[in-house]
Amino acid sequence: MNDKDCIFCAIARGDIPSVKIWESDRTLAFLDISPMTKGHALVIPKAHFATLADVPSGDAEADAACREWFLVTRLLARAAIERFGGANLLQCNGPAAGQTVGHLHLHVIPRQGADAVAQPEFVSGAGKYASDSERDEIAAQLREALANLAAAEGLRASATSAR
Ligand SMILES: [Zn+2]
Repeated sequence: MNDKDCIFCAIARGDIPSVKIWESDRTLAFLDISPMTKGHALVIPKAHFATLADVPSGDAEADAACREWFLVTRLLARAAIERFGGANLLQCNGPAAGQTVGHLHLHVIPRQGADAVAQPEFVSGAGKYASDSERDEIAAQLREALANLAAAEGLRASATSAR
């Protein structure tokens, strides 16, 4: 999908109407058309990135877009917490993770405790490792991949993150 066929790009351009909560040059927040709870909103960078993996490294404008995207998300979550009592954030990347619109977005889902939505089920233990060595191998793979990606951004982990 490119930005020409993208429904969120069309919303960002104003070609498709939405109930806007926030709009700036880089960021748009609007109410979800099928809300899980009252006030359920989506926050998007106006620039089209399909997933977090599609945000280019070393790109100052992409960096600024993501920084503002998360800042608006954080502040909208704060507003939702103050208005409703709580909020869940949900961000899906790729069909394997349940992403249905291929434009980077963050759900801000206000929660009132007694609403109709089940508390998110974090199935503790479902990803249990077969052994400590399997756990350590996966940790090492993620550590190395993250270190390489972070280095491209000029970010270094502290020595304590290495095992
Ligand atoms: Zn898009």
